[in-house]
Amino acid sequence: RNIPFVNIGERANVTGSAKFRKLITAGDFTGALAVARDQVENGAQIIDVNMDEGLIDSEAAMIAFLNLAAAEPDIARVPVMVDSSKFSIIEAGLKRLQGKSLVNSISMKEGEEAFLRQARLVRRYGAAVVVMAFDEQGQADTLARKVAICTRAYKLLTEQAGFAPEDIVFDPNVFAIATGIEEHDNYGVDFIEATRQIRATLPHAHISGGVSNLSFSFRGNEPVREAMHAVFLYHAIQAGMDMGIVNAGQLAVYDEIDPELREACEDVVLNRRADGTERLLTIAERYRGAAGKEAKAQDLRWREEPVDKRIAHALVNGITEFIEADTEEARLLAKRPLDVIEGPLMAGMNHVGDLFGAGKMFLPQVVKSARVMKQAVAILLPYMETEKASGGARQTAGTIVLATVKGDVHDIGKNIVGVVLACNNYEIVDLGVMTPASKILAVAREKKADAIGLSGLITPSLDEMVHVAAEMEREGFDIPLLIGGATTSRVHTAVKIHPRYTRSQAVHVNDASRAVGVVSSLLSPETRGSTIAAIRAEYRKVADAHERSEAEKQRVPLAKARANAFAASGAYQPTRPSFLGTRVFDGYDLAELVRHIDWTPFFQTWELKGRYPAILDDPKQGAAAKALFADAQAMLKRIIEEKWLRPKAVVGFWPAGREGDDIALFADDERRSRVTTLYTLRQQLGKRDGRPNMALADFVAPSDYVGAFVVTAGVEDETIAARFERANDDYSSILVKALSDRIAEAFAEAMHARVRRELWGYAPDEAFAPEELIAEPYRGIRPAPGYPAQPDHTEKATLFRLLDAERAIGVKLTESFAMWPASSVSGVYIAHPEAHYFGVAKVERDQVEDYAARKGMSVAEVERWLAPVLNYIPVRAAAAE
Ligand code: SAH
Repeated sequence: RNIPFVNIGERANVTGSAKFRKLITAGDFTGALAVARDQVENGAQIIDVNMDEGLIDSEAAMIAFLNLAAAEPDIARVPVMVDSSKFSIIEAGLKRLQGKSLVNSISMKEGEEAFLRQARLVRRYGAAVVVMAFDEQGQADTLARKVAICTRAYKLLTEQAGFAPEDIVFDPNVFAIATGIEEHDNYGVDFIEATRQIRATLPHAHISGGVSNLSFSFRGNEPVREAMHAVFLYHAIQAGMDMGIVNAGQLAVYDEIDPELREACEDVVLNRRADGTERLLTIAERYRGAAGKEAKAQDLRWREEPVDKRIAHALVNGITEFIEADTEEARLLAKRPLDVIEGPLMAGMNHVGDLFGAGKMFLPQVVKSARVMKQAVAILLPYMETEKASGGARQTAGTIVLATVKGDVHDIGKNIVGVVLACNNYEIVDLGVMTPASKILAVAREKKADAIGLSGLITPSLDEMVHVAAEMEREGFDIPLLIGGATTSRVHTAVKIHPRYTRSQAVHVNDASRAVGVVSSLLSPETRGSTIAAIRAEYRKVADAHERSEAEKQRVPLAKARANAFAASGAYQPTRPSFLGTRVFDGYDLAELVRHIDWTPFFQTWELKGRYPAILDDPKQGAAAKALFADAQAMLKRIIEEKWLRPKAVVGFWPAGREGDDIALFADDERRSRVTTLYTLRQQLGKRDGRPNMALADFVAPSDYVGAFVVTAGVEDETIAARFERANDDYSSILVKALSDRIAEAFAEAMHARVRRELWGYAPDEAFAPEELIAEPYRGIRPAPGYPAQPDHTEKATLFRLLDAERAIGVKLTESFAMWPASSVSGVYIAHPEAHYFGVAKVERDQVEDYAARKGMSVAEVERWLAPVLNYIPVRAAAAE
């Protein structure tokens, strides 16, 4: 008997095919078309096209792909099935398609009215439609419900929407079988029987299904999956299934399957014996390919639990896979959608909070839990809008406004704190980066914020935070001010910020793990008073201790420090670089850079403390570290393959010579015309044991060379991170930023190695392995302005001018001399064999006056930029205090 069966090619689907997704996100439409062409060549008679991926503009991708496919004769000869869970994307696709097309799919999930509206629209385009067996109560999983829902839909479509029955394709839901869960055992039979009944009672309608779902629990074992599919189709087609979404290139022939495997598959598909799954699992082991060996069968037993328990499990384990269906199920059981949030979701998150507090969960796991929460809430929100209007809004623990201050661009830490607070039911208003004080305060007032949190990475941000505190005082705010970020400290908060804001309390919170405790004790009326009193007592002690230690540190006059400058012990013969002036490196090989990543700071970002690789085997944090590292590797793979980032660098070399405490740079070897001057600061600590008072200029010989560089991981990371945020995936958003940071640092290291060996070439035979470079054992340094050896951030302006960095590679400086994009690194190359890093530490007024005169800046301005390293209270500030 020759039964007509239509193969629908499934591979042009970003959610089902990693390969297709990579091609589409990389914008490689030629490659994506080849996937579709392959499907047609392998026998697909219809091509399913799905672009539902949070990372891309799905509508634009659908339109672009369909337009291109229409121009390819060997693809255009088969109809297209526009596949999306968003009806707007389906509509966009329908508008582009010529000839007969299919829609995948519509359902009665949102009731009859929405169903009919969508059906009529599809009808208007003359398209056929796949109807999922899904109604207001959820997906049909039993035979009776499958048949009942399809019958109801058939009547609506034929009697009210004017559909020809032959344009209706029912999908009675192919679910995974052989999962180890008893209720799943009959899913295959239910589908096949539903098919038989629908074909018998609803004339001319077709039956289709997504066949790959069936073998979900055997992911990684392709031979067994193919056999299951072939057996299932054999029986379903006999029952009347006449279409199927399949991998057209990968279908086994029923008669050619190894009889033992075929029988085991038949047992599970037809649910013929209680131990069918066990037996198939045993046989399946033999068919595992090399790749399959690693893929571990998922333990899905938790899926048997009641829905509340499943939600709790998903939250604690950060599993997003089933949260949509579970949330939907919980919503249908609940009186109001809000009850789902306040019931199982909050209960699950509280449990996560307890585990985190008890040190049994770690930050990356909590951020993954938050992702599950956020995706669940996103499903419920549309149902809550109406309730909100009638005053049933959700109770939160408080509203917190977060911002990275003006002039600063770094936000990973702030975002992590935001996620952790949000998990604890705080409403977070995140103002992003470079936020002026006026905006922070205006929004805080408008949103009736219960606290404000400020973040910053670079030292000028410290001053900006003092400014925000003073403005809060002036405008009469009386809510807590949280201070965090790499440059901030308890001492700075106690000494500089706290005294400016007396109406409430400024508090330094640098750990996401502490944030919740601090915020809740500051917001609760019962504990607020005692908490503030305790912080004030602590800050008094910190300030006193700080004052004492400062008083003890003796500074020497600048002249004396200069007389004790560093003098090289050996003779040093400078090497002339291979070129003078600048050179741009565009699109550096990402895979090469990844080999240079220093992973230890990556784990620090996620508050996992320890050195890589030992941290992976840490008895407490090891499991969390390993999971995070695996996620990082998977994302790096995508970053490389899909070319998410385009690293760029600009490097330059100039003839140079020390000039007192400064370094003069010249246009050519004759050293007649000066290009610019790099100013450096000298240590003024009282030194003992003949130790010198260092300045970077001391490492530059009278006729030497100096280099400079700016590297960036690419300007793209923010766009990608923003897309993840829109897809309710903060975990990936933070992950991609943390990885971009690592790539920028790796780039600085890799480029420095290339400078030493080749571009400058003073160490042509250097042969360190990438992982050895992390300890910087090589000759020469790359000090960065804003770091201890040169605390003056304004020197970056000179570097950027010298390298023409903004035009060359797109990196900009903010008004506080932060680099944008955040994943950028800059510095100066010094080749002297005795060059090393040091800290200038605090400087005296005599040096500041001298430095200001050399730089042509006013003393007040220099004092502003050097505020964190002044060993005295400037007149201006003294007057203000
Ligand atoms: N492997 C690290 C590298 C960054 S930190 C990572 O991937 O994060 C080391 C760099 O910081 C140095 O190469 C230098 O550019 C800068 N640096 C460190 N100490 C410094 C100092 N005292 N003065 C100036 N720059 C310094």
